[in-house]
Amino acid sequence: MPVPCRAGCGKNAMLKRPKTGDALCKECFFWAFETEIHFTITKGKLFKKGDSVAVAASGGKDSTVLAHVLKTLNERYNYGLNLMLLSIDEGITGYRDDSLETVKQNRDDYEMSLKILSYKELYGWTMDEIVAQIGRKNNCTFCGVFRRQALDRGAAMLNVKCIATGHNADDIAETVLMNVLRGDIARLKRCTAISTGSEGTIPRVKPLKYTYEKEIVMYAHYKRLVYFSTECVFAPNAYRGHARALLKDMEKIRPTCIMDIIYSGETMEVKEAVSLPSQRVCIRCNFVSSQEVCKACVLLEGLNKGLPKLGIGKSSKAKRMLEEYNAKQNKSLEEAINNINEEYEKNNCISKGKVCRSSCKSKQTAQINKTHKTTSETCCNGQSDEKLNTDNDITNSKVKVLLKEYGLSEATQDDSSNLISEKIDHSNTEKVANATNDDDFEVDSHNTDEQIVDEDDTCGGACGKIDSLHISF
Ligand code: SF4
Ligand code: ZN
Repeated sequence: MPVPCRAGCGKNAMLKRPKTGDALCKECFFWAFETEIHFTITKGKLFKKGDSVAVAASGGKDSTVLAHVLKTLNERYNYGLNLMLLSIDEGITGYRDDSLETVKQNRDDYEMSLKILSYKELYGWTMDEIVAQIGRKNNCTFCGVFRRQALDRGAAMLNVKCIATGHNADDIAETVLMNVLRGDIARLKRCTAISTGSEGTIPRVKPLKYTYEKEIVMYAHYKRLVYFSTECVFAPNAYRGHARALLKDMEKIRPTCIMDIIYSGETMEVKEAVSLPSQRVCIRCNFVSSQEVCKACVLLEGLNKGLPKLGIGKSSKAKRMLEEYNAKQNKSLEEAINNINEEYEKNNCISKGKVCRSSCKSKQTAQINKTHKTTSETCCNGQSDEKLNTDNDITNSKVKVLLKEYGLSEATQDDSSNLISEKIDHSNTEKVANATNDDDFEVDSHNTDEQIVDEDDTCGGACGKIDSLHISF
């Protein structure tokens, strides 16, 4: 027997709203869905008239629905927003390349401009290359950290007032659960914020904060929106997955638990003593960071040095790795010096306290990293000391370069300008090393293998699958 629409429009209901249990017709569901998002936006004061807003677009259901609803509300309520799409291409073959095609379709459908930024152009690495280097255990840490910064960079390029992300109520409830289960009180304090970002950074807003994932899928389904639903090929079986499964189980018994968990997170009192790291600017890339060197730069340093685990897990581990790396570099310095010594020995001999380039048989090992004794006499090959001293200086300067490169001697003024760049690079390495001090780094003290990624870095890629929907009743 047909059930009348609960909104009283006179039509028959077609669906049961997962959030409220109301039986509604399609049109009344659309209206209720969009109006709730409008209330979220106005109550949270997410936008100001005339703002330029970048919608973080992955091609997935959340960002597609977000772009569609923002466009609809912008016209219906005259927000006066300049909406544009911002996509990050992580370089994941078989996933992001396909989903970007969907974003391009969104661009055409919603008549918004689209900016795509790739990890390859920003960092020199695609996720495919990173996974080939590091394996599939910590890939989402790299991906999440790089994405966060890539969005900031893209938003700065587009000169927008804020970035709107597609985080939905389920995502936020999961994050609350995860932070409770991990005892991460500092993150718990801020993970329910509808708008995040400190002074000097481009804020991120979450207009879908109170929107259920199931309703997002229903909306996209009934509106026939084009979105990409394949899961990322690198999606891990991470801790978030367990929180997700727990939430879905609880939702089956009590659908309001999603809102209840968010409400609990919002109203939970956290001691004043629990503080978040203050925001500053990374000395390397100039983007926002809680450390002197940002996490993206530390991870990139690790990749470029062949130390992919640098910045993963405990910072003391990272520090040890850098020390081991430096020790290895010193070992290769020793080998390099020995090689130069051998080469030098082949071509030179020391005669009467002077350096001689003849092939005489009375060779002694040349101690090239010590000052050679020379006189004004000619050597056995008849060459003058001046010439020999020049050769010696050249060789010594090679050694100096190596010594300085590995931080084993002080730079002198005679060094060529390329030494300066070496020195700068080295000082940065030290700063990275310093940034990995226990006190300086945000680490997960309960979980050494899995670096906690900020709640804003969570990925739609791992969230592609949801339970079967109860679209009808
Ligand atoms: Fe990146 Fe998400 Fe894929 Fe992880 S699941 S590799 S964070 S796109
Ligand atoms: Zn940086």
